[in-house]
Amino acid sequence: MSKDYEQFNKIKEPIMVIDKDYNIIFINETAKQEYEGRQGTKCYQVSYNFDKPCWEHAEHPCPKKIMEDKNLQKFNVIHEHFTENGKEYFEVRIYKDGENTIEFHLNITNVIKSIKQDVINSDNPIIKELQHQIDVVFKQFINLLKNIHFGVMIENEKREVVFVNKPFVEIFNLNINPEEINHLQDKELFRQISSFFKNDDIEEYITKNKPVYNEIVHLNNGKVLNQTFIPIYVDSENKGYAWIFEDITEKYKLEQELKESEEKFRVLAEVAPVGIFIQKVKFIYVNKTFADMLEYSIDELLNLESVLQIVHPDFREKVKKIVQERLQGIKEIHRYEIKLLTKTGKEKWVEVSSSATKYKGENVGIGFVLDITQRKEWEQKLEKLATTDGLTGILNRYAFNKFLEEEIYRAERYGTKFSIILFDIDNFKKINDTYGHLTGDEVLKETVNIVKKQIRKSDVFARWGGEEFIILLPNGTDAVEVAEKIRKTIANSFFIGPEKITVSFGVTSFKEGDTINSIIKRADQALYLAKENGKNRVEYVG
Ligand code: GH3
Ligand code: MG
Ligand code: MG
Repeated sequence: MSKDYEQFNKIKEPIMVIDKDYNIIFINETAKQEYEGRQGTKCYQVSYNFDKPCWEHAEHPCPKKIMEDKNLQKFNVIHEHFTENGKEYFEVRIYKDGENTIEFHLNITNVIKSIKQDVINSDNPIIKELQHQIDVVFKQFINLLKNIHFGVMIENEKREVVFVNKPFVEIFNLNINPEEINHLQDKELFRQISSFFKNDDIEEYITKNKPVYNEIVHLNNGKVLNQTFIPIYVDSENKGYAWIFEDITEKYKLEQELKESEEKFRVLAEVAPVGIFIQKVKFIYVNKTFADMLEYSIDELLNLESVLQIVHPDFREKVKKIVQERLQGIKEIHRYEIKLLTKTGKEKWVEVSSSATKYKGENVGIGFVLDITQRKEWEQKLEKLATTDGLTGILNRYAFNKFLEEEIYRAERYGTKFSIILFDIDNFKKINDTYGHLTGDEVLKETVNIVKKQIRKSDVFARWGGEEFIILLPNGTDAVEVAEKIRKTIANSFFIGPEKITVSFGVTSFKEGDTINSIIKRADQALYLAKENGKNRVEYVG
């Protein structure tokens, strides 16, 4: 043994080395196990239990012999061996090594079994094997085509149909058994399927050598197909064409429906008289009404860094909290009134109804915005109308009573003190009669102006009715002193022509157990006293 064949023990496939007379001069461990129990020293004895060389058996070509006859350095053949596992297939690769031959036996039983075809009966093992390899690939390919849900038709170069699968037949409702397709003239099949096509382009599809293309076709029977045409090789040399039809009717319908519902939403959102927005931290969608409301363009709103930028500072905390809830996907519907800021800084009162939804898989807020600025203005006007006196602009009796009620409550609860001054213009009827009602009105307004200057902001000043006014002085202010000061100021400075305007005052203070009625009654008594005692004076009733 001139070579160190021991190294072949490391290889996990059976290896034998034989000399020119077919004597085994080395067998590795794997081969020993594989062919265990075989008697003899010749390769044909160990591999086949033959008593003479394989090549003397017609059906068993010997690779060594072929290699020698053809004067080759290496050669391959597929052999059937009988092992303890039964019939197994080996790819025998043999190499010349001086006078010896090294044989690698690669176990390809699983591959061969999957082909399920006998490869032994071949005059030319190389060609046979090549054919097989192509067969295997082609069979796998055909198997794949049979089992995919696309309709497939394959033509050869002569444009004969060599293959159609079941989905193809189903898509076109053809009266054809896919298994029986055998060089069916293309035109015959196309005549059958062309009736389904809406246009006459089918001839063009057949005759034109278009490169790969893909298009959506609408069939007369309502089906929608995604059609692909690909030039292919049907075997190692021959060109062919594959036609692939995917039935996308359902998908197409759904897409159309989705498009339509999106279109509906878009139109609704565009024509809606309310502002509509979809938002994360930034706006994702806004309609024109919303943009117009805020004097922005749609793009400007979408480009704002944060939705909070258009929210009045007084409401930012509230909105921030709601936005965070939206991003967490909390769907509870919120309805709230807030102030927004327009691009030019104007304040807008709006009523927002918002909820959460999904947009591209993420939580977002969606909202409707109603401009209620005008309503708010009316509300404020109405409130003012309800609480102020139209002529003088100070509080009316109704509003005063609210304050008085609160003050009585505070006094009772916390022991605070307060006083009341009720006053009435002296001989007012005479002013009206002499100078007219309008002048009388002016006197009322001027009286209010003079009094306002004499009292503090915390004092509550109201028109009690006619030419009677009332002042509530909180805390321990000396109300008599204040009344006296007002009286003097008016008496000394207020004239209508030669007529001196004077006022009489009734003053009282809170007593435990007082009600609105009881305290007003005492103020009235004091005022009555002042009139009785000559007018232009202050009286106190405790
Ligand atoms: P006295 O000194 O006792 O208070 O006499 P008087 O004339 O001021 O009192 P009287 O109650 O007799 O008259 C009050 C008048 O005030 C009667 C009414 O026409 C007038 N008056 C009430 N409200 C208004 C008002 O809003 N404008 C004008 N111009 N007059 C008013
Ligand atoms: Mg009066
Ligand atoms: Mg009067």
